[in-house]
Amino acid sequence: MERTLCIVKPDGVSKNLIGEVVGRFEKGGLSVVALKMLHMSKKAAEGFYAVHRERPFFSSLTDLMSSGPCVVMVLKGEGAISKARDIMGATNPEDAAPGTLRKDFATDVEKNIVHGSDAPEAAAFEISYFFSSLERF
Ligand code: UDP
Ligand code: MG
Repeated sequence: MERTLCIVKPDGVSKNLIGEVVGRFEKGGLSVVALKMLHMSKKAAEGFYAVHRERPFFSSLTDLMSSGPCVVMVLKGEGAISKARDIMGATNPEDAAPGTLRKDFATDVEKNIVHGSDAPEAAAFEISYFFSSLERF
């Protein structure tokens, strides 16, 4: 069983989409095995998105991610990484398929309401960034 780290980003929390996001993941066959709400500092957001530090959107993205509370969760299931990303939709909502979270709820390419790990190594790093071994099941 694969595990992936997903986040309801601060813009998703402000739009009252926590239940909608968790519900779509669960209906899609994924199980929540860890979940909590937290407010990242700018430094914490920079550490989480370190892979993007050279990208032009890094400063703006880490401002968004530290702008308010988010909900971080670990999802478990067969092919959880790609399954969660299918449910989320493409990064840019203009390219996202109908029925995906980003098509239905994203404001723009940055405020796209959710994060999901993109590979097993990323998932391992991201899960351990937020959860100790005592907090995941
Ligand atoms: N992002 C952005 N502008 C871009 C590409 C990405 O603001 O041109 C933001 C967006 O919030 C995205 C995050 O940076 O979710 C991480 O980018 P990535 O390419 O990893 O997309 P994701 O894996 O989230 O679909
Ligand atoms: Mg990504």
